[in-house]
Amino acid sequence: MNVPQMFGENVFNDAVQKETLPKEVYRALRATIESGKQLDVSIAGSVAAAMKDWAVSKGATHYTHWFQPLTGLTAEKHDSFIEPDGDKVIMSLTGKSLIVGESDASSFPSGGSRATFMARGYTAWDPTSPAFVKEGTLYIPTVFVSYTGETLDKKAPLLRSMTAIDKQAKRILKLFGIDCKKVSTTVGPEQEYFLISEEMYERRKDLRLCGRTLIGAPVSRGQELEDHYYGVLRPKVAEFMADLDRELWSYGVPSKTKHNEVAPAQHEMAPVFSTTNTAVDMNMLTMEIMRKVARRHGLICLLHEKPFRGINGSGKHNNWSMSTDTGLNLLDPGPSPESNTLFMLVLAAVIKAVDDYQGILRASVASAANDHRLGANEAPPAIISVYLGDHLGAIVDSIVNGENYVPVEAPEVSIGVPESPIFPKDATDRNRTSPFAFTGNKFEFRMLGSQANVADPNIVLNTIIADAFEQFADELEGSKDVVKSATAVIERELKEHYRIIFNLDGYGPDWEPEAMRRGLLNNKNTADAVPVCFEDKNIGVFVRQGVYTKAEAIARANIQLENYTKIINIEALTLLEMAKQDIIPAVSDYVADLCTNVAAKQAVNDSIPCTTERDLIMKLSEGNDRLSALIFRLEDILSGIDMNEVVPASQAMAHKVIPVMEEMRTVIDGMEKITSSEYWPYPTYFDILYSVK
Ligand code: ADP
Ligand code: MG
Repeated sequence: MNVPQMFGENVFNDAVQKETLPKEVYRALRATIESGKQLDVSIAGSVAAAMKDWAVSKGATHYTHWFQPLTGLTAEKHDSFIEPDGDKVIMSLTGKSLIVGESDASSFPSGGSRATFMARGYTAWDPTSPAFVKEGTLYIPTVFVSYTGETLDKKAPLLRSMTAIDKQAKRILKLFGIDCKKVSTTVGPEQEYFLISEEMYERRKDLRLCGRTLIGAPVSRGQELEDHYYGVLRPKVAEFMADLDRELWSYGVPSKTKHNEVAPAQHEMAPVFSTTNTAVDMNMLTMEIMRKVARRHGLICLLHEKPFRGINGSGKHNNWSMSTDTGLNLLDPGPSPESNTLFMLVLAAVIKAVDDYQGILRASVASAANDHRLGANEAPPAIISVYLGDHLGAIVDSIVNGENYVPVEAPEVSIGVPESPIFPKDATDRNRTSPFAFTGNKFEFRMLGSQANVADPNIVLNTIIADAFEQFADELEGSKDVVKSATAVIERELKEHYRIIFNLDGYGPDWEPEAMRRGLLNNKNTADAVPVCFEDKNIGVFVRQGVYTKAEAIARANIQLENYTKIINIEALTLLEMAKQDIIPAVSDYVADLCTNVAAKQAVNDSIPCTTERDLIMKLSEGNDRLSALIFRLEDILSGIDMNEVVPASQAMAHKVIPVMEEMRTVIDGMEKITSSEYWPYPTYFDILYSVK
């Protein structure tokens, strides 16, 4: 395989654009992509024709406006290129069809922001993300807006947030004499996932309907031996990964790293980072391709945040930074950050933003599925804090304490073998327990869930940091001595937001009470985390930065709660069905068999011991009765919930429904452990987690 040759072969990328477009059209398009110049619509016809010819040469017969509605998935509707020409057809794509498409918006979530009689929605071409050909269709990345211009997707606000941070970051850079055309945010999302056998998956209703197991006793061998992380890839998994890489590369996704993760059957793929906008699109495509390629190998790729209890869940670490078109990374501290005022000011802005808006940052990653990863029983707390590492941490401490910072030479590491090189110790050690960690020249936001759209937290990050930049720029623009004034701002802000910095073990038992003392938020589930989005302060920042109108901000929070409520409802109904149709009957059959055995033994001789059978009969009969009682209780609670009232409904799901589901699970898992495997109606954790060779 010639990787450089096949990389991006399905993408209408810069090289193809250069080759196929007239010079002036190419230049105008690149100006829009690279420096954010408004698109010159007169070039659309020419771009559309070139795109179509290229796509047809790749075997495409259709095109689609590809968008990311608030369902969290991608959406597509395919139109063919055919245009009648006498009794024949020609293949055509007009400029207008490239730029705008019409779509019925009423079947997508809108959070009440759009009355159904105004159901018209438009998809509009996003030229900053390249089009590609997949399975005979030209995919054109678009944004999705309503008839009245309200955003109905995740891309439009993402692009708006990128515009906001570009504008404000350039003001900050200008203070330090740096001129550039564009500041872009960059993201490298590390994607975690599970691979299980298709056969086991098909036999689990919960996996098929909910993407996770609702029941399942823990397996005797979980991840305690710590032997899966970076372990040798099993052959079937290695084949899947090789196939996945090939496919991702053909779509220009720079898949770089692949390895086994901590839990059995868990893996990770990390791409090289790119501009946020393309990183988002590529991650959506990556998730889709992962699922598809897995099927080809008789496997199922589970992207759910917590498919199995008792072992690690899956996240999507969001590595985030900002850089100029000239290649300057704003989060690069350089060799001596203590005297790098620009860097320290940028750092102070990030710390301030994360502290001021910890609520919406937390809410941006809240979902029914991710609740199992944050704040739950076996998960780290859902508290946002910032980790800076030894080096930066010491600098910030010295500023806050008004002390002089004495740089310490990074010691060298020698492994004690003369043949091996000596290397300097890395100044930023890896703290794996921080939700928001500085890692050398970027921040890694680790709360994002594995199946989430990467746009969600990045819309918030870009917006809140743009807002902090704006405040700093407003304050500093008139200053005669920028370095001196900026130093004062840095000191003031670091002191004010010092509480958000935490450099120790975020999983340790001391952190939660300590965070409470500091007054940090700790919203453990979606129902409790999302309502902060209705607060004036949190709406205000989106409105100020031109990312959401007030109505859009409210609509989005409503949709998030609605989605949460629906998912818990589906899970509850699935669990009820499994319990009533499969588990109770199976256990009852087993009990009946045990009773027959007891009777048979007694018939032979009533002194034959039957203690084991009697004990099982008793326990399982009690278990089934307890389960029946819980079924009644859950059905009763569910029937009392008005799904249209999203706030109370979500509260009821979190605080009434989930606890009963938990109780049901405890009973069921207890019965699983003592029921003959011949009778148990579902594959067990052992069957599922250890089935792929
Ligand atoms: P680790 O597992 O140690 O966190 P990985 O190598 O798995 O590290 O992932 C690091 C991710 O961060 C990669 O996707 C990488 O491309 C990305 N990254 C590196 N530099 C930047 C940057 N400036 N902006 C955004 N992401 C970055
Ligand atoms: Mg990693």
